[in-house]
Amino acid sequence: MNLFDAQSTEFIRRHIGPNEAETRQMLETIGESSTQSLVEKTIPKNIHLPSELDLPASISEQEYLQDIWMVASKNKVFKTYIGQGYYNTITPSVILRNVFENPGWYTSYTPYQAEISQGRLESLLNFQTVVSDLTGLELAGASLLDEATAAAEAMAMLFHHVNPRTTDKPRFFVDNQVFQQTKDVLVTRAKPVGIELVFGDYQNAGIDNSYFGALVQYPNSSGTIEDYRRFIEDVHYQGGYIVMATDLLALTLLTSPGELGADVAIGSAQRFGVPLGFGGPHAAFFSTKETFKRGIPGRIIGISVDAQGNNALRMALQTREQHIKREKATSNICTAQALLANMAAMYAVYHGPEGLKNIASRINVIAEAIEEELTTLGFEQLNNTYFDTLRIRADRGVIEPIALQNQINFQYYTDGTIGISIDETTTQKDALDIVFVFASSKGTDEATIGFDSEISAAGKIPAALQRTSAFLTHPVFNSHHSETQMMRYIKKLEKRDLALNTSMISLGSCTMKLNAATEMIPLSWPEFASIHPFVPQDQAAGYKQVIDELSSYLSTITQFDGCSLQPNSGAQGEFAGLNTIMEYHRANNQEHRNIVLIPISAHGTNPASAVMAGMKVVVVKSDEKGLVDVEDLRNKAEQYKDTLGALMITYPSTYGIFEESIREICEIIHDNGGQVYMDGANMNAQVGYTAPGYIGADVCHLNLHKTFAIPHGGGGPGVGPICAKQHLLPFLPGHFSLDKGQPVSAAAYGSASILLISYAYIRMLGAMGVKKSTEYAILNANYMKVRLAEYFQIMYAGKNGTCAHEFIVDLRPFKTSAGIEAEDVAKRLMDYGFHAPTMSFPVPGTIMIEPTESEDKAELDRFCDAMINIYKEIIAVQSGEADKTDNVLKNAPHTQHVICMDNWEHSYSRQSAAFPLEYIRESKFWPAVARINNTYGDRNLICTCAPVESYAEAE
Ligand SMILES: *Cc1c(COP(=O)(O)O)cnc(C)c1O
Repeated sequence: MNLFDAQSTEFIRRHIGPNEAETRQMLETIGESSTQSLVEKTIPKNIHLPSELDLPASISEQEYLQDIWMVASKNKVFKTYIGQGYYNTITPSVILRNVFENPGWYTSYTPYQAEISQGRLESLLNFQTVVSDLTGLELAGASLLDEATAAAEAMAMLFHHVNPRTTDKPRFFVDNQVFQQTKDVLVTRAKPVGIELVFGDYQNAGIDNSYFGALVQYPNSSGTIEDYRRFIEDVHYQGGYIVMATDLLALTLLTSPGELGADVAIGSAQRFGVPLGFGGPHAAFFSTKETFKRGIPGRIIGISVDAQGNNALRMALQTREQHIKREKATSNICTAQALLANMAAMYAVYHGPEGLKNIASRINVIAEAIEEELTTLGFEQLNNTYFDTLRIRADRGVIEPIALQNQINFQYYTDGTIGISIDETTTQKDALDIVFVFASSKGTDEATIGFDSEISAAGKIPAALQRTSAFLTHPVFNSHHSETQMMRYIKKLEKRDLALNTSMISLGSCTMKLNAATEMIPLSWPEFASIHPFVPQDQAAGYKQVIDELSSYLSTITQFDGCSLQPNSGAQGEFAGLNTIMEYHRANNQEHRNIVLIPISAHGTNPASAVMAGMKVVVVKSDEKGLVDVEDLRNKAEQYKDTLGALMITYPSTYGIFEESIREICEIIHDNGGQVYMDGANMNAQVGYTAPGYIGADVCHLNLHKTFAIPHGGGGPGVGPICAKQHLLPFLPGHFSLDKGQPVSAAAYGSASILLISYAYIRMLGAMGVKKSTEYAILNANYMKVRLAEYFQIMYAGKNGTCAHEFIVDLRPFKTSAGIEAEDVAKRLMDYGFHAPTMSFPVPGTIMIEPTESEDKAELDRFCDAMINIYKEIIAVQSGEADKTDNVLKNAPHTQHVICMDNWEHSYSRQSAAFPLEYIRESKFWPAVARINNTYGDRNLICTCAPVESYAEAE
């Protein structure tokens, strides 16, 4: 063995679970001679790539870190006062280390299995409480993708609310002083659904009854604090609604949007301790009135009760979401920045209401002190009112070079004025440096600044808009203000959650693989964390390199010609991809091509995204084997040949098999004038062996938070880049900061900082490693399939009897034979220390298992043993040996509290309930609550921390 080769390929062995001996045993179980032969059987011959991927060779973790350090040093960390929705912030170290850098928080999945997700659910409830309190609106959701898309979601929600059947009121007013990126995303999103945007000055907007709503920014993009009360009345009088884009930190000092009469408040929670990261990831917020509860986009966390009658948290009102509603869903939001929402919530918990107010007041005072000095120097400050942003009349040509020399970035408005947005990190020294820039433009080297303790914190906030209402009065925001308390609070919540640092999470379609520590480390470096998305391009040269190289790797992997990294989730990628197709059709005078064929088995985001892109969904059947019914597809493609816009198809299919007829399917669509959109959310069985571009698709999205190692973060962040063929490249998303095109996200490169993770993944695995990962994803899935097939019915298989990277276990027979449902199995798995696989998707009453390449044989065996023991438990119920209702499955999960109760009245033993297999004794994971009542929570919707009075009552 060459020791140097062994070093450079070491990460491959670290990333892939099974070693050589285990591989042999597993192949033997399957009855296969090699992983290659297994792959040959699984992936159809006619779509095998003819050659190896043109990617760099693998490198070690140490080499990578040295390399990326050099790249990082190409980014320049200047003092940045650009603002416009992005601000420097201090991530408290206790949150950085215990949340952001802690796999207990960042590797967990979306909290669908609520009983083992109570920690992050509590934190997200805190987030909702922060948003609801500060915006003064009763109902808040648990985060959206960014401020600009949150504005678009608000616009869409109101449009559908006001125009349920007709479009009598198609107009939406947008004030000129809304952030540029928000205006641009609104343009992208309004066009396909027929909303007419009108931009103007709110003070003479001339709103009539053709408007369904309006958007204003508070404080606005110039930095002034406008009193919108009259405007709001006017809009309401005309039957329209108000969306207010706002800033949580400013709201600690300002009258809340709710009190002013706004119907929806949106914005970014970034400045609550979440690094800039060249644009993301950050959590956006959305709050509104109870009236709109069925229309709210994204997740809402609510309080319910468990089987013991204790309070328990869960995701509420899920029937709004695309999993169930499909093309009638309120939005396509699935993955949505949960980790960042948790960080923002923790920031509020740590600082509490007084701490937040102090931070905001200090910002306001520093801004005032700078204003005073600049005015003394003879500059005119144009904002009569402001929270953090000054606007100075000065010559950019003179100021900018001096500022750059002093490593300072200002905002240069298009009207020639200069913006200075102060933030939490700004010190007295920084303020002096700012003054110095302006002073030296007048030829003086003498700059001074005085911080008059008499300056009132609210001096520049108009009296009529000063906040008088209390916020964050709940105990959780007033209890954890020392680092010891905070560290323990974070740990207390973490312990309630099952993440990848406990056991495998075998979520079919969602790909929960290793998120390697080395992939994460550079994210915390200031050279990546502290870069504002709108800095001059030469300050982000390191980012540019990562972005360019990653784009080229992804284009190679998908066999496409280009790529956009902008979408912040898979679903946003779908929208971006379909929008690209529609723009292409428009450019060819084919805008009437708005029919999209979607197989019945598609992920719910597909139809939801299609509707956002202005397309009409026509469903295509599957045959009894789970394959697309090619005849039905052909008939529909021909029937709609004059209006066919696209096909959306998932490959390998959502049933986990490679369709042999995929090339024929693509041809049928092309022959009838349509484009092929491939949902490549899960590429784990393709990379290195086949590719969407090679198969015949025109565009696809990828989920970097599935296949390319970005952690799920408890429901986000995500990156959903789209890759496309040459003819579609001119229509990919653009951004004003790149001087081109229409964006789908607020920042040009979306969640730029986490691109580093996928970049590291590909660099360290190299061409050989990514291909090996595919092999092992297929090997692991087939091994489990063979082991479980002795006990369970496995649905669907490819031509040769193999599955791809995932397979579906049919649990429906047990419902009739034993009264046991898929949900009982999912909850019982918790007693065995496991998170359930994907439930009831794509087939109701089934589970879909995807082990990924990162799990070793021992872990796969533990999971199989758990499933097999559960099978025996089901058979005991079926045979009458166990009680029909009082059994280990129906009562699962069993909490520590229940097991330890003095009186045990069940018909089975405590041992069999909590320790059914030997391995559990070594490391028992206890679910925090018993089975949660879902309908109770929806009927009694409570989405914020209980008010203080209820704690008082309880005591
Ligand atoms: C996960 C997934 C999506 C949606 O991705 P998000 O990032 O959650 O929006 C779309 N399609 C398929 C097949 C998926 O598995």
